[in-house]
Amino acid sequence: MHTDQRPCLSSDRELELRDEVMRAMVEQAMARIIEHIRTLPEQPTSKVSGGLELAQSVRERLPESKTEYGKILENLFEKWIPRSFNTASPGYLAYIPGGGLFHSAVADLIADATNRYVGVWAAAPALAELEANVIRWFGEIVGYPPAARGILTSGGSLANFTAIVTARRNRLPEDFLRAVIYASDQVHHSVAKAAILAGFPERNTVELPSDERLRLRTDLLRERIRRDRAAGLTPFMVVGSAGTTNTGAVDDLDAIAEVAQQEHLWFHVDAAYGGFFMLTDQGRRAMKGIERSDSVTLDPHKGLFLPYGTGSLLVQDGEALKRAHTTQALYMPPMQEDPELVDFCNYSPELSRDFRGLRVWLPIKMHGIAAFRRALQEKLCLTRWAADELDKIPGIEIVARPQTSVVAFRYAAPGYSGEELNELNRRLLDGINSRNRVFLTATTLSGRFVIRICVLSFRTHLDRMEMCLEDIRRSVEEIASPRQ
Ligand SMILES: *Cc1c(COP(=O)(O)O)cnc(C)c1O
Repeated sequence: MHTDQRPCLSSDRELELRDEVMRAMVEQAMARIIEHIRTLPEQPTSKVSGGLELAQSVRERLPESKTEYGKILENLFEKWIPRSFNTASPGYLAYIPGGGLFHSAVADLIADATNRYVGVWAAAPALAELEANVIRWFGEIVGYPPAARGILTSGGSLANFTAIVTARRNRLPEDFLRAVIYASDQVHHSVAKAAILAGFPERNTVELPSDERLRLRTDLLRERIRRDRAAGLTPFMVVGSAGTTNTGAVDDLDAIAEVAQQEHLWFHVDAAYGGFFMLTDQGRRAMKGIERSDSVTLDPHKGLFLPYGTGSLLVQDGEALKRAHTTQALYMPPMQEDPELVDFCNYSPELSRDFRGLRVWLPIKMHGIAAFRRALQEKLCLTRWAADELDKIPGIEIVARPQTSVVAFRYAAPGYSGEELNELNRRLLDGINSRNRVFLTATTLSGRFVIRICVLSFRTHLDRMEMCLEDIRRSVEEIASPRQ
């Protein structure tokens, strides 16, 4: 009997799918996806009860054998996905809304199925260039010069981290433990976390009290810098916020730029949430001075409505970003000498990564940036409208008027103690959310529990905002005159 003597011959190539299997897989998933997206407006905005039991039922040992694809889709779409915060819902006005443009999902499919390598320019020149385009466009949006460079990250946290490391590697000696980073008490917590991860002692991140509009006080900043220098510390970096997560407040970026220039600080702007409002007139007025920063964080998965997984960092002096991240290895392909051609691995902590430029590039290319500008204008308008309507509700106090697309409010009728009001507002929030047409979250400002509305989903329009205000009015009536 003949036996083939060649080793390692395998007849089993089941991981390589046949054409019709690939097509069927995508089509089956598509049928589920379209149904899911079509019914988003009617789905509850949040549904997580029984989450623990469900999560426990998902836990399992490494499976040795097959599971049928249809069964997996059924579990995903009928059991697991619905039990969640419905971050893609038009009624999701919580935290910073996600959205999730479908275009980017298609871009991811293409990027993943072709699986090209874009960490190195030579490995996929046109694709690396396409991603460099996205970075140049972002630079245009914030008003950076052509010498700016940047990277797409997985989110704003990683962008803030990379900004701090870049500043540190360019401005500080290897012993940097006396260097101090300044921000307002409204700055996103990812900044303090990034500073710790970048090796700074926790106490070296100073969060200064903010003003009545929740913006960094540059008078306090100057004073603190003077004191720190006198104490032998090294003032090093200041982080401005262009749209805080709490209330959407925008720091006076021009004033911070002034201080940074005089004191030789690296000026980073965390515009993860608010930066893309630079596409609008209102945003450009509010964020004037952003172009004077050394670096900026922008989150396309917020202000450009992308699915989660894409943030970005821009650095005004592109060479500074490169200096901070360039290392060599003998097994790597040659890197580009031409300063116009970018090897992303030399600008970022990452080497191998997904081709994430396509998920940003495709929707912008298909619609033009004008469509995004109009959508962002609509969000600003809806937020002002909501603030005007809140003003008309007896007992409601607006704690933070919209500076971008967040408004923060609370119920504050006279005759209650601070703690009683906090408790009433917790009940108010539960009342609003229990109607399941919108999902709001809260924050604390000067010890006060306040409810926030953040409008940033491309799916949120006036009809949903009307439902939001209706649910707020009804819930206020309930806490103001409790049923017995
Ligand atoms: C969301 C946010 C971050 C963190 O970004 P991730 O993408 O969630 O990592 C940082 N700063 C601000 C102002 C944000 O709103």
